[in-house]
Amino acid sequence: MKATSKHAVLDAFRVAAAFLVVAIHVSPLQTIDATADFIITRIAARVAVPFFLMISGYFLAIRENGGDRRHFRSFLKKTAIVYGAAIVIYLPLNYYTGYFNISPLQMLKDIFFNGTFYHLWYLPAVLLGALIVIPLWRRFGWRFTLVLAAVLYVIGLGGDSYYGLVSRIPALKVFYDVVFSISDYTRNGVFLAPVFIMMGVGFADQNKRRSTSRRRKIIIGLAVSAALLVAEALWLRGMGVQRHDSMYLMLLPCMYFLFALLSSFDGKGNKNLRTGAMAVYILHPWAIVLVRAFAKLTGTTGLLVENQLMLYILVCIVSAAAAAVFICLVNSIKKNKPSPTGRAWVEIDLKALIHNAAELQKLLPASCRLMAVVKADGYGHGAVAVARALEASGISAFAAATLGEGIALRRGGVRGDILIFGCTPPADARLLRRYSLMQTVVDGAYAQALHETGAKIDVHIKIDTGMRRLGIDSGDLHGIERIFGYKNLTVKGMLTHLSEADNLTDSGSEFTLGQISAFFDTAKALQKKGYDVGKLHAQESYGILNYPDLPCDYARAGIALYGVLCKNDKTRLMPELRPVLSLKARVAEVKWIGAGEPVSYNRTFVARVPTKIATVSIGYADGVPRNTAQREEYVLLRGLRAPIIGRICMDLMVIDVTGIEDAGPGDIVTIIGRDGEDAIRCEDMAESCGTITNEILSRLGARLPRIIS
Ligand SMILES: *Cc1c(COP(=O)(O)O)cnc(C)c1O
Repeated sequence: MKATSKHAVLDAFRVAAAFLVVAIHVSPLQTIDATADFIITRIAARVAVPFFLMISGYFLAIRENGGDRRHFRSFLKKTAIVYGAAIVIYLPLNYYTGYFNISPLQMLKDIFFNGTFYHLWYLPAVLLGALIVIPLWRRFGWRFTLVLAAVLYVIGLGGDSYYGLVSRIPALKVFYDVVFSISDYTRNGVFLAPVFIMMGVGFADQNKRRSTSRRRKIIIGLAVSAALLVAEALWLRGMGVQRHDSMYLMLLPCMYFLFALLSSFDGKGNKNLRTGAMAVYILHPWAIVLVRAFAKLTGTTGLLVENQLMLYILVCIVSAAAAAVFICLVNSIKKNKPSPTGRAWVEIDLKALIHNAAELQKLLPASCRLMAVVKADGYGHGAVAVARALEASGISAFAAATLGEGIALRRGGVRGDILIFGCTPPADARLLRRYSLMQTVVDGAYAQALHETGAKIDVHIKIDTGMRRLGIDSGDLHGIERIFGYKNLTVKGMLTHLSEADNLTDSGSEFTLGQISAFFDTAKALQKKGYDVGKLHAQESYGILNYPDLPCDYARAGIALYGVLCKNDKTRLMPELRPVLSLKARVAEVKWIGAGEPVSYNRTFVARVPTKIATVSIGYADGVPRNTAQREEYVLLRGLRAPIIGRICMDLMVIDVTGIEDAGPGDIVTIIGRDGEDAIRCEDMAESCGTITNEILSRLGARLPRIIS
């Protein structure tokens, strides 16, 4: 994701913030000067937790705005797992301190609000806070939600550093007593977390590039609000009204300017810093215990512990060491996954996809919108990635072949209309409803069966105008009218499918024009009788390219969206389409064979002269058709052509690399796509295999990783 290019300083500050949290729990200057310690640990260090909360909101919003709605759920899941693990890690200390004598009710309060160990409150707070504000933000936008969160924060202030003032009013005291019977502090997921999460969201939503010229103003803003923060805190401390000292009014502008400053620098984010900061945060209380225990055992308490600055330094060192070990552990677990480009893979160019969609849209009348056909896993491109990218570019209608594909799109976060082309079993009708999927009604009997399930379903009626596959006869007006009568079915549209839109011969055109007029005649007849036929659509890719001007509401673009045509042929309109997919694999082995030696199964290839061959890690199980090799097909290696020789096997194939100087193991072979000056077009490959690109692409193997860029 390109946005990470300016997260370097944000990530670095996470580490600083983690050590500030350590300071809160060690009070390094306590033995030197109490006021200085208060300023460092009770004021300055109070930016740490709000910063973590803002970071969470910021990255949640960036992912969400990028179309990834699943991220919120995985964020909740991950945080809950971290919290669960942290609870377990601190069980021994809980046991040691006699924590388990508390009531089950107090334990519940701790799990949801206070944390089961003193520093752990942050984790339930970020969970609860996000659960409160993210759904509201989705629904009402960031301004509204931010205001609401700010109100919660102000209420929280009354129970925190302003408590002594506020509790003089009896009604408010009663209110806060109720709050404290549920959560021991207002410093929690309800009152503290929401506003900072939303400030982070706001930064992502505004998406301003903070220019260097603004940086001076930001620094002044930060200095002023920091000074005011210190003044506010010392004033409250002087009056002795603080019940707790986590929340200050001036923390809000302070955090705004701090975050603005930190996110104004360019530089790539660093995953290890993120993991490390979290590890320091989670593990430092253990470090405190260990340092104290060590001092006790070695009789160095006076030197190591009573001097709190020394204690702080040691705890930081031990925590950092533990974090380093943890980072190594995480990275070594990650290494257990196979590298996606180690064997054979598919590369997807989303920019080309968006370009193609725009090109196709330009060919159509303004009132006709593209419906992106993403069946068969988006013609092998990865349906969710394709649909999400198109949705972000403005397309709002999608089509899948099966119920399962439709559900996968919804689970993947696709929000637009989704039409299922195929025949969903009536027994599954309620799933259409649950996932807000529209169903194609393939004939009268099917419509009745769907209606009788009782589920309320939106449908498009398929009209058969000559394909003779699915659909109700265009002439059967009564049959179609009956479908409008089923009260559980809401007709949202009507479609037909052209069987020969790619055939521009006289007889082909005549047939297609016949289909088109049969479809629109039927629609008009129904409209005349007062039926709302909804959205009309008839064109697939070739329909768009050869019959662009039809008065349709949708055009169902499939293969053309992916930047290829079915075969090498001419269409009336020839927009500049770019192939979205490349297919690549690695060379496993290179060797010389002698004249007369055969290659692969059944000796279909025999070398006539000494030949250098390379075995490539891709085969027909990955979707390279087994008969490709019989047609003098070639692949690209180091930008040069290398013929495929011998039978293609399930997982391997062999190529002739005699002319390619340095060919060696690990080289990348391009089966479809560009390498240097040369490219292998999917259309050519399809033609030489006696099929169409649709078949090649939709049959690419499920085991191929998709690299999306
Ligand atoms: C697959 C399909 C399309 C898309 O066809 P392309 O030729 O790939 O554009 C359109 N409509 C229906 C009903 C389909 O099944």
